[in-house]
Amino acid sequence: MARFTRAHIDLDALQHNFSLARELAGGARVVAIVKANAYGHGAVQVARSLPGADMFGVACIEEGLELVECGIRQPVLLLEGFFEASELPEIDRVGFEVVIHTDSQLECLLAAKLKKPLTVWLKHDSGMHRLGFSDQDFRQAYQRLQDSANVADIRLMSHFASADELNSAFTVDQVSRFDCACEGLTGATSLANSAGLLAWPQACRDWVRPGLMLYGCSPFDQQHETAARLQPVMTLRSHILAVRDLPPGEAVGYGQTWRAEQNVRVGTVAIGYGDGYPRHATTGTPVLVNGQRTRLLGTVSMDMLTVDLTDLPHAGIGDPVILWGNGLSANEIAVCANTIPWTLVTGMTRRVPRIYTNGH
Ligand SMILES: *Cc1c(COP(=O)(O)O)cnc(C)c1O
Repeated sequence: MARFTRAHIDLDALQHNFSLARELAGGARVVAIVKANAYGHGAVQVARSLPGADMFGVACIEEGLELVECGIRQPVLLLEGFFEASELPEIDRVGFEVVIHTDSQLECLLAAKLKKPLTVWLKHDSGMHRLGFSDQDFRQAYQRLQDSANVADIRLMSHFASADELNSAFTVDQVSRFDCACEGLTGATSLANSAGLLAWPQACRDWVRPGLMLYGCSPFDQQHETAARLQPVMTLRSHILAVRDLPPGEAVGYGQTWRAEQNVRVGTVAIGYGDGYPRHATTGTPVLVNGQRTRLLGTVSMDMLTVDLTDLPHAGIGDPVILWGNGLSANEIAVCANTIPWTLVTGMTRRVPRIYTNGH
């Protein structure tokens, strides 16, 4: 019996989520964010399944080249631009679009000898304070780009710090800081990530940049009507490889962190943190065995974890287990593991084969 641990990737669900993004975007164009191997889902497979995306967004040139080399035709945006000048010849050759967020990039770009001018996304720091030009430097950078023969179109962008917090006023603040910084400048604008697109209509400008929502997870930690329409793309599956009955007083797993108070039936599942299942998931984290909800017991190991089968007397070796996905949202698991759904799906390791299906 081969180890059954798999991540099923439902490409129909991906397309459904993309259509929702497209619908919310209104007339705006959509940069589908596929950085970090499409949040663990497989960048090339995901990009191939989104022929309707206007552009793909990645974190670095290596990720961009992977798409281009596999025949993806849409333009590709490097969300952090280039890290050193030596990348520019390749960027020039392929025609990547680049974010410019800092002075050293600006100097490099202006000094470069390019065959074709590049489309530049000039990044404004509207309050995230991670990347981007301050209000004043933003305008100066814009002017210098506009005067350069190395620059074709200039697009204006910023990024939200707290758009996933529905009650935070800071997003509104960031939008107005951005609008202020852009006043009088011409160029298409872009603000919204998934949370912006789902919950902040004033953030949907000429281009939107959804990532997480394409993969069917909600960026919010509370119920949200529109986010509820998303369908999970990744379903993480394994099976039970051992079962035992334990009397009261016996503990399970490393560190003996969970101890039985009555007779229990314990199932061992062939998945662990070596596959990307979060080690910080605590006793009680929901797990589906034969489609029925039960709970994690004790500490997650590298290759295995243990679940409570006391109320599932018919469950046995070989029975299917779902860790998240269909019927059990990654959002719920993220809460139990004190993390966010982004890290769960992105953290799937190479050991887990991705199986691509079209849902039916
Ligand atoms: C990752 C990223 C996004 C997508 O964010 P989600 O919250 O996953 O939708 C959008 N814009 C930029 C600049 C990013 O780095």
